[in-house]
Amino acid sequence: MQTIEALTPGFSRVTVQGDGLAAYRTIRPADAFTLVIPPDGTGSVRMPRISPAGAPVWPQDRPTPLTRGFTVRTFDPDTRRLAFDVALHGDGTAITWLANTRPGDTAVLAGMRREFHAGDVDHHLLIGDSTSLPAIASIVESLDVPATVFLQAETPADRSLVKGDVRWIHSPPLAGPGSVLEQAVRGFRRPAGRLQAWCAAEAGVVRSIRPYLVDELGVGRDDLHTVAYWIAGETAEGGDAVRMRAYNKAAEEGLDVTDPAVLQSLEFS
Ligand SMILES: Cc1cc2nc3c(=O)[nH]c(=O)nc-3n(C[C@H](O)[C@H](O)[C@H](O)COP(=O)(O)OP(=O)(O)OC[C@H]3O[C@@H](n4cnc5c(N)ncnc54)[C@H](O)[C@@H]3O)c2cc1C
Repeated sequence: MQTIEALTPGFSRVTVQGDGLAAYRTIRPADAFTLVIPPDGTGSVRMPRISPAGAPVWPQDRPTPLTRGFTVRTFDPDTRRLAFDVALHGDGTAITWLANTRPGDTAVLAGMRREFHAGDVDHHLLIGDSTSLPAIASIVESLDVPATVFLQAETPADRSLVKGDVRWIHSPPLAGPGSVLEQAVRGFRRPAGRLQAWCAAEAGVVRSIRPYLVDELGVGRDDLHTVAYWIAGETAEGGDAVRMRAYNKAAEEGLDVTDPAVLQSLEFS
C-alpha cells in the first residue's frame, strides 16, 4: 500500500505500509534503505525468493529490478507505516516510478541501515543537499546538543521541511568542487569543544568539503561521517559500478577493504 503527497514543489512524500516492516525494530534518525523498483519505473515489483544463503532470487521472467537509496523520514511501529521524501531532481528511474506508481502497487524496501550515530560531543555540524535534507531533518529532531546546519535546497518552500536554525543555500542541484555549499561551510566558525560532522550530498561536493572538515576543523575520525548520496552524470547503477571497480582494485592491491577508513578513502579518492 502506498500514498504519495506533494510536500513542496521540490519534494514528494511516499508513505508505505506493510507487515514486512514489523522487522524494522531498531529505529534511528537518518536510517536509510534500498527501494527496489521495476526497471522501467512502472507497476509493482514481484517479491524475490530468498535463497538458503539469504540472498534475493528475482523472478527470471522479467528484468531484474533496480535499486535506489532513500531515508526513513517517519516510521510508526504500531501501524507499520513508513514515510520517505523524494527530491524531484529531474529525470531518473525513481522519479519515473514516483510519477507512475499507484496505491496498491508493491514497492520493496530492503537493507535498512544506520547512517547516523550521535557521539558524546559538544556540537554537531550537519551539511547536505536536497537528497540528505530528509536525513538532516530527522537528525536535528533527535539531538540534545547544539547543531549548525548547512543545507542546499531548490526553493524557500523547502524550509518548512526542517525544524530549527538552518543556514539555507537555495540553488539548483550542486555538483563538484567549489560549490556555494562548500563556500558557505568554509565560513563556519568552529565552536570550542568536541565537534561531530556529518556530510551527505553529491560525490564531488562531499569530496571537496571532507578535507576541510578534517584538516581545518580538526574533526576526529570517529566523529566524521561523509557519504556520497549521488554522483553527477551517473545513475545509481553507474555509481555502484564506479565504487565496485575502486573496491576490487584496492582488494587486489592488498588494502583492507573492511577498514572504514579505507572505504572512505576509496569513496572520495
Ligand atoms: C543512503 C542514501 C540515502 C538517500 N536518501 C534520499 C532521500 O531520502 N531522498 C532523496 O530524494 N534522495 C535520497 N538519496 C539519493 C538518491 O538515491 C539518488 O539521488 C538517486 O540517484 C535517485 O535516483 P533516480 O532514479 O531518480 O536517478 P538516477 O537514475 O540514479 O540518476 C539519473 C540522473 O540524475 C542525476 N541525479 C540523481 N540524483 C540527483 C539529484 N538529487 N539532483 C540532481 N541530479 C541527480 C544522476 O547524476 C543521473 O545523471 C539517498 C542516497 C543514499 C545513498
